[in-house]
Amino acid sequence: MDADVCSVYLTSTDLRHLILQATIGLDRSSVGKVRLPPGEGLVGHVARAGRPLSFTDAQSHGAYRYFPETGEERFESLAAAPLIVRGADSARGLTIGVLVVQTRVRREFRDEDLELLDTCARLIAPVVMNSQLLALVAGSETDRARVVGELGEAGLHLTHDASAPDGERREQRGIPTSRGIAIGRAHFLGDHVDLADADYTPSQDPAEEWRDLTDAVDVARRELHGLRDDMGGRFGADFSAVFNTHIQILEDKGFVAKLEEGVRETGSALAALQRVLEEYRRTFSAIEDPYFRERGTDIQDVGQRVVARLLGVGHQADPLADGSVVFASNLLPAHFAMLDTDKITAIVSEHGGPTSHGAIFARALEIPAVTGAVGILAAVTRGEEVIVDGDTGRIFLSPDEDLRAEYERAQHRAIVALEHLDALAERPAETWDGHRVHLTANVGLLSDLRLCERHGAEGVGLFRTELLALVHRGFPSEQEQHQLYEEAASAMAPRPVTIRTLDLGGDKAIPNLDIEEEENPQLGWRSIRLSLSHVESFRAQLRAILRASTRGNVRLLIPMVSQLDELRRVREILEETQRELADRDVPFDPKLPLGIMIEVPAAAVTAEVLARECDFFSIGTNDLTQYTLAVDRGNERVAHLYDPLHPAVLYLIDRTVRAAARHGIPVSLCGEMASNPLAVPILVGLGLGELSGVASAVPVVKEIVRALDMGKAATDAREALDASSPREVHEIGARRLREAGLLDHPDIGDWLMRSIERGRNGDD
Ligand code: PEP
Ligand code: MG
Repeated sequence: MDADVCSVYLTSTDLRHLILQATIGLDRSSVGKVRLPPGEGLVGHVARAGRPLSFTDAQSHGAYRYFPETGEERFESLAAAPLIVRGADSARGLTIGVLVVQTRVRREFRDEDLELLDTCARLIAPVVMNSQLLALVAGSETDRARVVGELGEAGLHLTHDASAPDGERREQRGIPTSRGIAIGRAHFLGDHVDLADADYTPSQDPAEEWRDLTDAVDVARRELHGLRDDMGGRFGADFSAVFNTHIQILEDKGFVAKLEEGVRETGSALAALQRVLEEYRRTFSAIEDPYFRERGTDIQDVGQRVVARLLGVGHQADPLADGSVVFASNLLPAHFAMLDTDKITAIVSEHGGPTSHGAIFARALEIPAVTGAVGILAAVTRGEEVIVDGDTGRIFLSPDEDLRAEYERAQHRAIVALEHLDALAERPAETWDGHRVHLTANVGLLSDLRLCERHGAEGVGLFRTELLALVHRGFPSEQEQHQLYEEAASAMAPRPVTIRTLDLGGDKAIPNLDIEEEENPQLGWRSIRLSLSHVESFRAQLRAILRASTRGNVRLLIPMVSQLDELRRVREILEETQRELADRDVPFDPKLPLGIMIEVPAAAVTAEVLARECDFFSIGTNDLTQYTLAVDRGNERVAHLYDPLHPAVLYLIDRTVRAAARHGIPVSLCGEMASNPLAVPILVGLGLGELSGVASAVPVVKEIVRALDMGKAATDAREALDASSPREVHEIGARRLREAGLLDHPDIGDWLMRSIERGRNGDD
């Protein structure tokens, strides 16, 4: 920002003061000394306002307060943005600090400057929150109660653990997290050292204990650096970032200080670790907000690593046998780095849910997984035979012969079907009368690209870039985005990669994005609307995409366009960004195709007008269905009304396809319906040239396309457009699959029926 000073003020644990904690440009000796109550001073003023503000003539403002120790009179202008955290479902955030910049010469900060500062504040806030939570553990009971209350108001509720384990049942249930069936023997992860039972005799000399402990911390930190590099190589940069958090904990001054205090008071390195970990465990396990609760898991994971080093034990107690079902307290990214994943048939965890990083890894590696199986660790014994059904979340312990045989049959059928389908990988998706359909995949993380390869996807039809933002809990930097897009573009080249700009808001709210509570978030300030009002962040994303486009295989896709003006504005910004890059001699593809998503009925109705000014269409039926049928896609109560095979949705798809054909631009469809077996014959019949769905569905969709006859599919599609209900359309689709011989197919018939059932239930 070309400023002379940058400082961070954080709230004290009692929330009564803002304290200068770090600065470049002010006198460093004032760190920790400058304290002001919220509301006082310009910094306190911004904290109270809860939004970024700038002051050209800072000293003439009524709220200005002078702190001689900072040497502040030398600075004329000031801009500041609050650091705010909030729970996923809360509009009111909690201000935990303020980010400030100051300039020596008088300066009018522009809106873009404030926006940039605000973006930085959003990126910093969760990191600060982590360390505030660490500090909170050290605070007094009164402070703790007060902060707990404030966090509650901000939507980060603190509760106590519930649900007692049920050790008696032989069938347990958890959350289905990664598809597939596995039968194997239980293997407990040896990473959990039971602190209470650890055999450890401290030395007489506390100094020696402290040395041992710091050595263990050092080794653990080096291990984590190694893990980070290893995971980066295997799964991509977006995942190795997880380990930065772990490294950050070991380098956290508060964490280290508490360990030191523990050694001083107990004279034992292990006792100190026990005490600190238990304190953290209590604090974090009480947080309801899943993101912050997950940070508690990080601390425990890191703590266990240090304990293991201190006791001189490896992270893995038993060797992993072939075909093991791994049971763990939590599914952690580190497990995938330290275990031989080829030997794992399934993973079950007592805690955690399907959106954790570990769960995403399991899906990327196609290892069946169930998470959140409360009580499972107490119920299962080492080496016991278990069945894990990743489709339903059921776990059977010591199954009887009948059940085992039933699951073996289901497993066999699934394997035959998948082998049959994967054998098609090299063949084109072409109807038997020669009509070609391109089958691409939707991806969100680099690890998904492996699935594209495995299942023969012809490119990426939809790259959902917001997942990076969700992982980061804020806007990722241009460099981080560029790295991600560049990797995707080079891995897929020469196949196309369609990168969609951030589609945040609505159901994809990120807690740190300052979106005020809206009555109708799905109809509100989301997606391209949000990007167009954060122009600097939008430009940064466009630069990152353009820089990754040099191979000529990148396509740019704009979500949720509802009128021509939005498309025009995007084109204008795109052209400006291209000129900016050209001026700096940064290479990019000057012919980068600009496409829009057709996911608002208005866009489908006016497709003719939009087609004139863009290079391709991609129909997003997930949203198009919700807006056409007025059915919230995330509301279970109305889920029975949500059906993309409703004739009204088909009508809008048809209209869009026709408009695209008249203007000679390609049209694809990238909603979940693109992988629904019943929908495929109808979509092909409507003339869609590209279907983009989950990568693992590419083979089955290809099998269906190859069994179709374009003439008959087109007749089916006309009939579906005239149908009087979604059910009739389902029947038309099922009839076509049956007539094409697919439902009775010895290899895939049964499996296809199960997929249709899952499709009906709204799963992938
Ligand atoms: C859609 O709306 O169909 C779509 C593909 O986008 P998303 O599911 O990410 O909203
Ligand atoms: Mg959408």
